[in-house]
Amino acid sequence: MLLENGKGVKTVEKESVEAIVNQVRLSVIMGDITQQETDAIVNAANPSLMGGGGVDGAIHRAGGRAILEECEQIVSRQGRLPTGKAVITSSGKLKARYVIHTVGPIWHGGGRGEAGLLASAYRESLKLAASNNLSSISFPSISTGAYGYPVDEASRIAMDTIVSFLRQGVTSLREVVMVLFDSRTFRAYALAFREVLNISA
Ligand code: ADP
Repeated sequence: MLLENGKGVKTVEKESVEAIVNQVRLSVIMGDITQQETDAIVNAANPSLMGGGGVDGAIHRAGGRAILEECEQIVSRQGRLPTGKAVITSSGKLKARYVIHTVGPIWHGGGRGEAGLLASAYRESLKLAASNNLSSISFPSISTGAYGYPVDEASRIAMDTIVSFLRQGVTSLREVVMVLFDSRTFRAYALAFREVLNISA
């Protein structure tokens, strides 16, 4: 099914929405981020950069040992990765060329700067992609798994931060993809996408 409304938003199929923001294609899809072919995929890492569960474990399993070795070098050079910051490594056996590792906040109820830190994780990842001249990047839903961030709030922050970044100026980026692993998370991001872009469903 291909629907298009007056504002140029396509519902390509039930599990994908997209729009053009300042010459960049922004899409929200259901899928497995380890299978994405964008220049970079983002990993919802933890400060040790030594892998873990969820999307972090999946990326290290699919990419192999090379990613972990580069993470070890980064940690020995600069220490643990602070929440809200991002670093880049190569991608081992993944289809994407790079992995951008960022650390989202652990949800403590919202009073410990979580919103600002989550926005920073998205912004720092986008900045790193642009400073490496990359044209496409895929994000998972940072912090909404083991870190417990409520998905409705996290999805608005994610979409708002990405859209603000894209509207701020022209960069090397031509495509940004949010890759959601389950339908409830996908629905939250698709709704936030419409709200932030001010599109009626
Ligand atoms: P965090 O510790 O930042 O909360 P998690 O990895 O626990 O990170 O969860 C973040 C999100 O990533 C969750 O919505 C989870 O379902 C999702 N996820 C897990 N595996 C994958 C994958 N292979 N591709 C995309 N998203 C994934």
